[in-house]
Amino acid sequence: MKYAVIDRGDTLSQSLAEQFHQLAKERGFIRNDEMPDIVVSIGGDGTLLQAFHRYFEQVADVSFVGIHTGHLGFYADWQANELHELVTMMAEQTPQIVRYPLAEIQVETPEHCFKYLALNEFTLKGVDATLVVQINVNDELFEMFRGDGIVISTPSGSTAYNKSVGGAIVHPYIESLQIAEIASINNRVYRTLGSSLLLPAHHHCDIISKKEQRLLLTIDHLSIQRSDIHSIRCSVGTKKVSFARYRPLPFWKRVRDAFIDI
Ligand code: NAP
Ligand code: MN
Repeated sequence: MKYAVIDRGDTLSQSLAEQFHQLAKERGFIRNDEMPDIVVSIGGDGTLLQAFHRYFEQVADVSFVGIHTGHLGFYADWQANELHELVTMMAEQTPQIVRYPLAEIQVETPEHCFKYLALNEFTLKGVDATLVVQINVNDELFEMFRGDGIVISTPSGSTAYNKSVGGAIVHPYIESLQIAEIASINNRVYRTLGSSLLLPAHHHCDIISKKEQRLLLTIDHLSIQRSDIHSIRCSVGTKKVSFARYRPLPFWKRVRDAFIDI
């Protein structure tokens, strides 16, 4: 098995990464940072986002495993003190591969078209002033949006930023994209739906810039500022991300553990 490790960079995560390499060597795993079969992320959910973006071009050929060194993570199933158990299972078991949907966007500028994939979400905000955009769903006008921003999340990202803006939590087996508002302006002149909506796979929405504006686009933990964005097409990605499961951890149990059972 070819593997790579990405750690958060703190002392505990770095030392666990060292231990992992040692145990992996004893088991005959091959370290290969360029073309791994399995990527082990050690840190938090943010570390798994970094690992995903490091390997997104190989997303169809890679499976991720997360070890958390802080609180329980949505993408990180294993605790720091379970490292030996994890390596043993990796050596002796064939994991269940669980595939989660991604979000895909195509950003159109007068000169270029950029494609991005997100594991959690994209957000769009105005840098200098209120964001003003038209939203089309499947090429039909849906609404004119004025407000702080828009969050377009994947099912597994629905527990992150999306949850903070009142979006629903979506089980990752539901292939969909959630569009949630951040502080939309609603009065007699401007009107938006006011609640978040779920688009199924094979539907798409276009966010069309309606004025000269500097836009802040975030893609998970990454961000880009541009003044020349004309429109952004959003859809459920054609590729999925794979997680290697060596033991079950039901999504709703994670939700409960993370948000309710304190
Ligand atoms: P961060 O500021 O450390 O992340 C914010 C929190 O979100 C951290 O506690 C992180 O967990 C957690 N998180 C990440 N993905 C999650 C998921 N799928 N479900 C539940 N919680 C999740 O920055 P980061 O670690 O680089 O993560 C980037 C993410 O932060 C973005 O994708 C966005 O979802 C989120 N964010 C949230 C808000 C908000 O809620 N107002 C604002 C900006 C960004 P760890 O501590 O384990 O990393
Ligand atoms: Mn973080």
